[in-house]
Amino acid sequence: MVPKHIQDDELPGKDVAKEFYAHYEPKEILGRGVSSTVRRCIEKDTGREFAAKIIDVSSTDSANESTFLEATRREIVILRKASGHNHIIELHDVFESTTFIFLVLELCPHGELFDYLTSVVTLSEKKTRHIMKQVLEAVAFIHDHGVVHRDIKPENILLDEKFNVKITDFGFAAELGPTEPRLRDLLGTPGYLAPELLKASMYENEPGYGHEVDVWACGVVMYTLLVGFPPFWHRKQMIMLRAIMEGRYEFKSPEWDDITETAKDLITKMLTVDPAKRITARQALQHAFFHGVGQSKQSFNARRAFHLACITVRAMIRIQRLRFTPEMITTDIVIREPYRIRTLRKAVDACAFRVYNHWVKRGEVQNRAALFENRAKCDLILQKEIRKEQQASA
Ligand code: ADP
Repeated sequence: MVPKHIQDDELPGKDVAKEFYAHYEPKEILGRGVSSTVRRCIEKDTGREFAAKIIDVSSTDSANESTFLEATRREIVILRKASGHNHIIELHDVFESTTFIFLVLELCPHGELFDYLTSVVTLSEKKTRHIMKQVLEAVAFIHDHGVVHRDIKPENILLDEKFNVKITDFGFAAELGPTEPRLRDLLGTPGYLAPELLKASMYENEPGYGHEVDVWACGVVMYTLLVGFPPFWHRKQMIMLRAIMEGRYEFKSPEWDDITETAKDLITKMLTVDPAKRITARQALQHAFFHGVGQSKQSFNARRAFHLACITVRAMIRIQRLRFTPEMITTDIVIREPYRIRTLRKAVDACAFRVYNHWVKRGEVQNRAALFENRAKCDLILQKEIRKEQQASA
């Protein structure tokens, strides 16, 4: 829905925010939200680039207008409290008029992690490690400051010019304190909701939820980055929500076959149904996934060192000979199970993205390779045979 004050890419009336226009030169549109437009802008004094989020706080319904204005102001307060960390979006300036609020934010030229993932399909463990470390550092920081984000997902993770993470959109964020130690509202994005959040909204006697819900969402993000599909998904939302509450997900083959046990272990610890037993963001940062191959720094393990040396030598020999020894792929497997071969799987997934422009669900019996199978349809074959028989008998 295009906000009524920002239709046709026009800039909001200059009189409503003279101060903003006095300091900033608005440029092209970077993206649109439900009631906002985000433009690149240049600070006149310094020539520095920023992203101006222009929020339309007016509404036909005055009751909704004041609630939305209050919510936006609350978001600004929380953003100010959470900012000051490398991986949380920096709020540079705020201007407020009767119809618009202008948030001048740090510019993230590479946009949403969601769009990046859509273009590359899946991320390697190395890239996932880079992204997840920064996401968890930001999450640990806000948790230390008593803030719960409640909407961690790839759409709310922006990437700056060096592909560093900036957590944004604190619209659902809340502060935990002595007056409100646990929360109960049903807020967030369905596929990322934690079991205790769903239970708190369904059953009166449930104790509510806290910052652990962000770690669960991080588990969903990490799973999705590695394989390109989410851990919890079903066409019928109730079935998906039940799977979440029971923590029912799988490391499906073949996508998970090439992924290390260390990565799987961290995801398992983040996607633990009981929030009391779930790993915290700080503990997750200490996990072996972020520290090499899980070797203990204190004790030298001769057997493991020898094993590592063998792998290194074999890898070096393989790299040297790589040009002459292309990967063996038997035509039999290519025809029968193309999706089992990593390079073909990646190509199939990339094609699926290009054709459908979104993730194509991979169900229990569903195979994305089937989308590109080019077998003659049975009835066409039948018609051909009948025609052949008719010609022979004529
Ligand atoms: P809303 O919260 O109203 O949904 P968003 O904050 O999601 O709006 O912004 C809408 C779009 O604008 C985003 O999808 C993103 O592409 C772009 N955007 C938002 N903030 C920035 C930023 N700081 N730098 C670059 N692009 C941004």
